[in-house]
Amino acid sequence: MAETAERRFAPLIILLLVAALVSTLGLWARERTGEGQASAAVATGGPDATERIEWKMVTTWPKNFPGLGLAAENLSRYVEEMSGGRLTIRVYGAGEIVPAMEVFDAVSQGVADAGHGAAYYWKGKVPSSVFFTAVPFGMNAQEMNGWLHYGGGLELWREVYAPYNLVPFTGGSTGVQMAGWFNREINSIDDLKGLKMRIPGLAGEVFAAAGGTAVRIAGGELYTSMQTGVIDALEWVGPYNDLAFGFQEVAGYYYYPGWHEPGAMLEFIVNADSLAALPEDLQAIVTYAARAVNQDMLDEYTARNNAALQRLIDEHGVQLRRLPDDVLQALWEGTRQQLDQLVAEDPMAARVYESYRTFYKGARNYHHISEQAWINTRDQVLGDGEY
Ligand code: CA
Repeated sequence: MAETAERRFAPLIILLLVAALVSTLGLWARERTGEGQASAAVATGGPDATERIEWKMVTTWPKNFPGLGLAAENLSRYVEEMSGGRLTIRVYGAGEIVPAMEVFDAVSQGVADAGHGAAYYWKGKVPSSVFFTAVPFGMNAQEMNGWLHYGGGLELWREVYAPYNLVPFTGGSTGVQMAGWFNREINSIDDLKGLKMRIPGLAGEVFAAAGGTAVRIAGGELYTSMQTGVIDALEWVGPYNDLAFGFQEVAGYYYYPGWHEPGAMLEFIVNADSLAALPEDLQAIVTYAARAVNQDMLDEYTARNNAALQRLIDEHGVQLRRLPDDVLQALWEGTRQQLDQLVAEDPMAARVYESYRTFYKGARNYHHISEQAWINTRDQVLGDGEY
């Protein structure tokens, strides 16, 4: 009887044992694949891999403006797509949460999680920041990307921003900019005297030392400032961006080369606490999305600047001019003095400058026989002929 019962229930017991084993293995597998991390994270207080997170990003640009204004929107889109919607970044244009020139403080204090702008806007607070955007007669976009990503520049930038609880990322380069828009011709360095120009960064100091007045105005207010005569000249970016802003309607002369911003690098800044609160994979997504946006901006300007320049000349009658050689030489001498003063006054600026100039020296040396030699050679060989 007992033997019969045992034989009858044996398959059921085996089935229960198998079920228990499958269940245990299933739990183990879920832990391994991360499904169980949510409860584990709650228990330990660590980041939750299943949570949906929304960030606020403030910018120094009007919302949805072409070129540099779209970098924040692009970052938001890349991050949302790469994370399957786990991290969304809501972008606020200048003035929506804070004015353009308060982006640094807003992200530093956690009013927003992230920001997009340019490091040299904060030079009053952080003098060494000018090197991370652009310094006059300095490195171009290719060289800046090399220095920041492979030459120790980004590590220094992070050290500089750490006391403000901010983590910087490269946020796109415009390439070589234009010298800017003027309401009169510039034939000598004396023509800069008394000129009121919107020109930020160390270049503003150089301009002021040459006898002009450097004014700090956010992009969204430039058109009206020029139109109403608050300023006589302005620099913004280059043809693609400047055409979209409509500066051809308020100034007649468009000067090159962009001596003051040969490779202006923008920045994404992230509040260090907001970044640390993300699970590791989302931190990686933010990092690589920013890197993709950084390169994408340069690609877009390279693709669109020439067509915009032709429209400015052909359809809007803009007078394209090159700054005279002696004006450029005088501006370089002024730059030399401002650099000396900056590094004498700020020990961190001296450290960043040392890294910058060492990298620049090597980049210039190699570019003599690579990029520069090639651009000179193709002009020499092709002349005005088409490829
Ligand atoms: Ca500029």
